Amino acid sequence: MSIESVFLIGGSGFLGLHLIQKFWEVEPRPEIHVFDIRPLPDRISNYFTFDPAKIQCHVGDLSSKEDVSKAIQESHPTVIVHSASPMHGMARAIYEKVNIQGTRNLINCAKEAHVKYLVYTSSAGVIFNGQDLHNADESWPIPEVPMDAYNETKALAEEMVLKANSDSEEFYTVALRPAGIFGPGDRQLVPGLRQVLKNKQTKFQVGNNDNLFDWTYAGNVADSHVLAAEKLLDSTTRDSVAGEKFFITNDAPTYFW
Ligand code: NAD
Repeated sequence: MSIESVFLIGGSGFLGLHLIQKFWEVEPRPEIHVFDIRPLPDRISNYFTFDPAKIQCHVGDLSSKEDVSKAIQESHPTVIVHSASPMHGMARAIYEKVNIQGTRNLINCAKEAHVKYLVYTSSAGVIFNGQDLHNADESWPIPEVPMDAYNETKALAEEMVLKANSDSEEFYTVALRPAGIFGPGDRQLVPGLRQVLKNKQTKFQVGNNDNLFDWTYAGNVADSHVLAAEKLLDSTTRDSVAGEKFFITNDAPTYFW
């Protein structure tokens, strides 16, 4: 079964543009719909080869039933990819609104519209509570005391998505947990490093300079979403991914502080 139409929530964001690119490269090319609280950026880097005029944009709020239902009805998606979230470092209320209420709203709207497949962008941070992680895998539990509101609400949203996986309702879900993402269009990592230089804060050092952190290239993260969608759609591979979570990384998640 091929992907006829994909609905990319958060598609105007950093990872979102890489998701558009990777679904654009799928043969046969699906219809690509973006649902985001803001439109696609006016200027898109030459790195991307997709034609923005062929991407159908629906501007709306994930936590609004009206916005999400209307856009899903207009798009008839084969698969939904939910990669919307407020950035790290904001107030708890905004995470609760988007990651908790928004994800719950999406699951309800998707089921109502009989969409069968949902891929959720979680985060490797859901298992991090500030302690070093060595060779962690998917069997590691979510910490009882979360690191912060971002990671806590990402974990709760992931749990909702995975619990919604149901054979009897023919609704199949998977959660992907990238670590820090880098690549063209990044809005956090390199801009943050530039700001440190601009502020002349380069004399500060955290730890003894042996710290390790896990980074994943944005194109690889986007590829993993396409693969996850394809595996969910294929009845011969579905059981290996449905209801599961996967770290997306070049190695086992590593956070040494
Ligand atoms: P981003 O901020 O560039 O993109 C997120 C998009 O979600 C934005 O376009 C934003 O407008 C949209 N959005 C936010 N609230 C919304 C709402 N209420 N309704 C509709 N759209 C809304 O962030 P990103 O770095 O591309 O992150 C994408 C996903 O990957 C997020 O779920 C994030 O938690 C996850 N993630 C990111 C990293 C990283 O290092 N960037 C690491 C792990 C996981």
